[in-house]
Amino acid sequence: MSDQSSTISSEQLEGLIRSILSEKLTAPAQSQTAASGDVAIFADVDSAIRAARQAYLQYHQLPLKCRSAIITAIREQLADDVTQLAEQAVEETGMGNVGDKILKNRLALEKTPGVEDLKTTALTGDDGMVLFEYSPFGVIGSITPSTNPTETIINNSISMLAAGNAIYFSPHPGAKNLSIWLIEKIEALIYKTCGVRNLVVTVAEPSFDNTQKMMAHPDIAVLAVTGGPAIVTMALKSGKKTIGAGAGNPPCLVDETAEIVKAAQDIVSGASLDNNLPCIAEKAVVVVDAVADQLIAQMREYGALLISEPQQVSALKAACVVDGKINRKLIGKDPQVILQTAGLHCPAKAPKLLIVETPADDPLMMLEQLMPVLPIARVADFEQGLALALKVEGGLHHTATMHSQNVSRLNKVAQLMQTSIFVKNGPSYAGIGYGAEGFNTFTIATPTGEGTTSAKTFCRLRRCTLTNGFSIR
Ligand code: NAD
Repeated sequence: MSDQSSTISSEQLEGLIRSILSEKLTAPAQSQTAASGDVAIFADVDSAIRAARQAYLQYHQLPLKCRSAIITAIREQLADDVTQLAEQAVEETGMGNVGDKILKNRLALEKTPGVEDLKTTALTGDDGMVLFEYSPFGVIGSITPSTNPTETIINNSISMLAAGNAIYFSPHPGAKNLSIWLIEKIEALIYKTCGVRNLVVTVAEPSFDNTQKMMAHPDIAVLAVTGGPAIVTMALKSGKKTIGAGAGNPPCLVDETAEIVKAAQDIVSGASLDNNLPCIAEKAVVVVDAVADQLIAQMREYGALLISEPQQVSALKAACVVDGKINRKLIGKDPQVILQTAGLHCPAKAPKLLIVETPADDPLMMLEQLMPVLPIARVADFEQGLALALKVEGGLHHTATMHSQNVSRLNKVAQLMQTSIFVKNGPSYAGIGYGAEGFNTFTIATPTGEGTTSAKTFCRLRRCTLTNGFSIR
C-alpha cells in the first residue's frame, strides 16, 4: 500500500460517511420493494405491517424537514383531487353529498397541523436541564370510517406522519376502492419526497377479519379507531394503547335569549352538512318553548322542511327508526330519498334538511341518526333544557352546541357537558375548525379522552435530563 492510498483528508472522510449514510437510508427501501414486489397495498396483513415497520425505522433516521416536506406534498398534491375524492366517496359509499365532501376534504388538507404541533418544552435550573419532547410510537393501526373515508385518511396521515409514525390503514370495506386509491397515492408522494417506501400501507382486501388481525399484530404500537361503538370497544379490549374516536349524539340547546335568526341558520347548516354524516353534526335540538315557533319558522327559511302532519310524522319516524334502531339504509341519504322511503311527497325544490317535533324521549332524540332528519324537542325553560341536552349527549364526551346570549348559562352548560367539543353560538362544524378558529381533525378521541387529535396525540412524550449546566439565567 502506498502512502497516498492510506491517507484521506477530513473532507474526503466526511464525504464518504455522508454517502454511506445516504445509501443506508434509501437503499433498503428500494431493494425491499424490488424483492417483494409490494408497494403500499399488500396481499396480507402481516406483510403490510412488516413493510411499514421497516419504513418506520428508516423514517426515524430522517430529519424533521423530511416530515414537513411530506406534509407539504400531501397538502399541495392532493388539492387537485378533492372533487374526484368527493365524487367517488358518494358513489362508492352511497352516502353524503359531493359539495360538502369537497369542503371537508379541503378542510383536512389545509387545517390539519403538521410538525409545528410538536412543541418541545424545557425546564432549567441550578441542577441542570430537562427536555420534554414528542417521539413517534412506530406503526399506528388506523381504522377509518365509511362516513368520512378520505377526510380521515388525509387528516390521520398528516397528523401521524408529522409525529414520525408509519401507518397501517384499515379502511371500512364499504369505502375500500377509494381508500386504496388514496393510500397508494399518498405512499407514492411520500416516496417521491423522501425516498422511504411503505410509510402508509393497507391490504388489497380490507375486511373485518383483516382489521382484527391488524389489531392483534405485535408490530402495531398503537390503535387509532375512528368509528362506531362496537369497533372502539373491540380495540379497547385488544390490550394495546387505543386512541378511540367513537360515536356521539350532539345536542343543540337553544334558550330564549338566543339570536334566533343566526341560531336557525347555524343549525340548518351544521345538521345538513354532508347529510348529517359528521359525528360532530347537530343530532337533536332542545329549544325553550318561548322561542320554539320562531326557531322552526327561521329554520324553514334556511331550507329545512318541517314534517308536522301526525300521519306524516309517524311515517317519517317509521322509516328512520326500525325495531328501535336507526335504519342503516338511510344513513347519509339525501332528504328526497328519505321522504320517498317514508312515502312522503318531496317538494320541487329539494330541502336541505327534514325537521320534526318529537317528545323529549323519542328514539330519534336519543339515537345517533347520521341522516338529514333533525328532531326538535320543546322544554319549558333553560334548566329543563340543560337536563334534556345532557341526556341526549349520553355521557359520550363528544360534541354539544348551544345558542344563547346569557354568558353564565353558556359557561354552566360548557362545564357540565364534559364534551370534547363545545360550540357556542355557531354551527357544529366550527368545532373542527371550519369557518372558525382552531385546527381541523376528523378523529375526535371521545371515550379515551384525547379530544381533538393532532400530531402530538400520536406521540410518546419523552423526558431527557442533563445534569448540571445549560441554565443561562
Ligand atoms: P363503523 O363502526 O361501522 O366502522 C368503523 C370502522 O370500524 C370501519 O373501518 C369498519 O371496517 C370497522 N369495523 C366495524 N365493525 C368491525 C368489526 N366487527 N370487526 C372489525 N372491524 C370493524 O362506523 P361507520 O359507519 O363507518 O362510521 C360511523 C360511526 O363512526 C358513527 O358512529 C360516528 O359517530 C363514528 N365516528 C366517530 C368519529 C370521531 O372522531 N369520534 C369520526 C367519524 C365517525
